[in-house]
Parts: sequence; structure tokens; C-alpha cells
Amino acid sequence: MDYIAQMQNLPKKHEFFIGFDSDGCIFDTMEIKQKECFCPNFVKHFGMQAASKYAREVWEFVNLYSKTRGCNRFLAVQRAIELIRERKEFAARGITVPVLSELDAWIKEESKLGNPTLKAKVAATGSKELGMILDWSLEVNEDIAEMVHGIPPFPGVKEVLAKGYPKADMIVVSQTPLEALTREWEENKIDHYLGMICGQEHGTKTEHLKYVTSGKYSPEKVLMIGDAPGDLKAAQKNGVLFFPIIPGHEELYWAKLNEEGLDRFFAGVFAGKYQDGLMEEFDKSLPENPHWK
Ligand SMILES: [Mg+2]
Repeated sequence: MDYIAQMQNLPKKHEFFIGFDSDGCIFDTMEIKQKECFCPNFVKHFGMQAASKYAREVWEFVNLYSKTRGCNRFLAVQRAIELIRERKEFAARGITVPVLSELDAWIKEESKLGNPTLKAKVAATGSKELGMILDWSLEVNEDIAEMVHGIPPFPGVKEVLAKGYPKADMIVVSQTPLEALTREWEENKIDHYLGMICGQEHGTKTEHLKYVTSGKYSPEKVLMIGDAPGDLKAAQKNGVLFFPIIPGHEELYWAKLNEEGLDRFFAGVFAGKYQDGLMEEFDKSLPENPHWK
């Protein structure tokens, strides 16, 4: 399937457009996925057993509690290994921190960092390093499929979807595999609000917004909603508006969006002072550097 054509051909039905990040924004799935699925498999596949406590600390910092929260899983591996290399606890416990030069090269050359492209790369090169990372990524998906069920959207999400639906074309903008996204939105019977679901197979979040909206909607009529700096970056790179769902205060921000944010967006008084205030709150909510540095 040609994902780019699929995004470009999404029919425009309304003047306004809203992109929703999914994990940690619509669904309270970040903690369970990262703590129960990603992290245990990271310890297992990357040989971190002897320092699992520290590996977990690093993994959770990268993926939940810092500015890289919500980033693509392969970038998360790269960042986690970089932080692990700087910590003496690992060498002190006899761990040889892997050098992932083939991962680094693949991240540089590939814009669609997902299992299908990694699988093709492993098949083409026979790389042991990338094969190990693919095994990790596939087992993460298996565990998520097994573990993550029955998680409803955050309180307040359905009200926003229902309020936005008559006026805006709405899609999912996510770095999660499509299979999981589709399952989660369908399971909660909220998929009918969407024009389409863009997952990691469709490329980066910046690309999703670019291919779906550019040339079709005026930038001040496009709103991205997310819980992580990567969501904000995707909005900024496309010159569109952003509303943060701040981690730890999700219900408050969904209520805020429902009670004032959406009205301001549709009335054309979102940019400027209102958005700047939100950005300031968002920036303060996640640290850049870990406490151990
Ligand atoms: Mg998110």
C-alpha cells in the first residue's frame, strides 16, 4: 500500500483539521506499555539483566518522564543506550554496553522507522545487531497485544471528539504500529470519528501532518493535540497550532480543551497569548536531563 498517497488523498470535508496523538494522549496506555512491555524486553534483549534496576530507570526516563517521552521506539533505544553508556553502574556490574552502529546508520537513512522497514533491512543485510533489535521490537508488540486491553480513553476525550466531529476532519497522528492503534480505537468504539489512522508505518508525525494537511487547510485551522514534545515539534514544523495534554494532568487538560480550547480554535483566537500560556505549562512539565547526571 502506498501510505503517502493514502495520506494525500484523504478527502477534505471541513474547513478545520485536528490531529490526535494516541498513546498517553487519548489513552492512558503509556505506563502499562512502557513499564510492562517495552522495558522488560529491553532488559532481556539488550543484556541488561545484571543492572535491571538502572536500565529501568533509564528506560522510563527516556520514554515517560523527560522531553523524549513518546518518541519512536528505535530512537528511544538509541537514546537509552547513550545514557546507559554514561552511567558507571552498568560497567560496574559487568555489562558491556552494546555499540549500535548499524542502528545509528539505519536511523539516518530510513524515514519510516517501523518493524516492516527494519524487517526488510535485516533480510537484505543479515545484520545480527538489527536482527536483535527486530526481535525485541516484535516481542514488544506481542506483549502489548497480550497485555494491553480494556483501557478506555481518558475522561473528557469522547466529549472533545464529539464536539470536534461536526466541524473538523480528524485523524490519529501516532508512532505506534497501525495494528495496535486500530485495535484500541475500535475496541473503544471511537474510530468512527476519524478520517484515518496514521501510525509508524506512515512515517513521522511531521510527515503525517504535512501529507494530510498541506495545501488543503490553512495552518491556523489545523490543530495538533498531544502529550509529548515530539507532538509539539510536528505541529511547529508544519506551522500549525498545538494543544498539550500534560502528563499527570490529563483530565484537567481534556476538560480545558473541551471547555475553552476547541471554542477558541474554531473562533480563530487560539494562537498568541492563549497558546503561549499552554506552551509554558507544557515546557515546565518534562525535564531535559536526568537527575543522575
Ligand atoms: Mg503520546
